[in-house]
Amino acid sequence: MTVEQIISTIRQKKLQPDRELLSRAYDFMVKAHEGQIRADKITPYAEHPAMVALTLAEMGLDSTTIAAGLLHDVPEDTARTIDDIYDTFGQEIAQLVSGITKFSQIRYQGFDRYIESLRKMFLAASQDIRSILIKLADRKHNLETLKNLPEYKRERVAKETLEIYVPVAARLGLNNLKTTLEDLAFPYIYPREAQELIPKIIDRLENKKEYLEKINHLIQIELKKQNIKFLSVAGRAKGLYGIYRKLQLKKSSLENLYDIIAMRIIVPHAHDCYKVLSIIQNLWIPLPERYKDYIAHAKVNGYQSLHTTVICEDEEIVEWQIRTEQMHRVAELGVAAHWRYKEGQLNPNRLPTGTNRWLDELLLLDQSTENQNDYLSRLKEEIMTNRIFIFTPAGDILDLPTGATAVDFAYHIHTDIGNHCAGCRINGKMSSLETILQNNDTIEIIYDKNRLGPSRDWLNFAKTRHAREQIRRALS
Ligand code: MN
Repeated sequence: MTVEQIISTIRQKKLQPDRELLSRAYDFMVKAHEGQIRADKITPYAEHPAMVALTLAEMGLDSTTIAAGLLHDVPEDTARTIDDIYDTFGQEIAQLVSGITKFSQIRYQGFDRYIESLRKMFLAASQDIRSILIKLADRKHNLETLKNLPEYKRERVAKETLEIYVPVAARLGLNNLKTTLEDLAFPYIYPREAQELIPKIIDRLENKKEYLEKINHLIQIELKKQNIKFLSVAGRAKGLYGIYRKLQLKKSSLENLYDIIAMRIIVPHAHDCYKVLSIIQNLWIPLPERYKDYIAHAKVNGYQSLHTTVICEDEEIVEWQIRTEQMHRVAELGVAAHWRYKEGQLNPNRLPTGTNRWLDELLLLDQSTENQNDYLSRLKEEIMTNRIFIFTPAGDILDLPTGATAVDFAYHIHTDIGNHCAGCRINGKMSSLETILQNNDTIEIIYDKNRLGPSRDWLNFAKTRHAREQIRRALS
């Protein structure tokens, strides 16, 4: 994967690439990873970050994010540090990369604990959701090359994908990526089921092809007759894992599952969607319980579309989705759709993260009456936080209130550690106990078993009620 291929992908998306930045990041990355190879023992390592960058380019993200994608493994795996990236590419890219690097500091300590840490990581890692987008693109390529890893690792990576990455992608409305991750992980987790099911699905889709062409032709004639402009009409299959889940859930057979394919019509304006809807519902018999107006009532993740299921030609049941181009972009890219260039300018919407309730809040947000911009600014408010996330040297993550210090951290871990706390290292550097902790800091407490107890002036900077209570108790 060359930088030219990445740049031309950006162009295909009708976006303006920052050629200078991308070439510089690409060259820096290739040089840093020089001599390293991937797990297949043939491919140069540089192919991996380049593929990650390509995915980000396909998602229509800005050049800054794509450059950070190119550099995402540099501090972790090469002699070049985050400071080198800061010096060469500036603060924004350095921050994105360090957000991604933090993910791999989590150490594996049993699956449940790991999952919990990873979940928190997603909330904490990024000053900005773009770090998460890069991490998801990274995961996609790791799954694509998963067969090269030893068997015991494969299942873990696949499982963690379905448990963590997929729900995160879903909450962010990244439907394309979500389906891709699911379908890539599926055969590693359910090898027997996948082996049995996948050829059947492909076979069934093949059988449906002719039929879909027929109704595609019919609806196009009708739309033209009624003078309705449309941008595209196409049939699209649901993801393999999605179909598998549905079969499990409904205890149904593939033959009885009619919604493995949906027809999708894309029109210029929202009011056209309703015109198309009435055409479809006049041509064929709609199933009333299967009509959904996600335009008037958007889903929490921003998804908008009209859905209707009808008894179509030859008595076949077919689901139709009708939406505008902008809705389609949000449907496929979710939150990422908002980082596209708008009128030649980068849309600087950033979503600072950092609360452990973040995903729940996302779920609870009801934005049915709001437009996208209101939604984003409200999301921002909801997740703007007064919590920071702190690493232990063992790779666990704690959340503390903003303004917390190492003393709060020490008491948070254990009263005994608080009482015997003689100093601290913040990110490896000896620091004063009253230093205010920053999001993503790694704290190590220096434990002195001979220490008699806390010092009174800790009360001047201890922030949490728990720490203050413990200090007072020990002093009295
Ligand atoms: Mn990577």
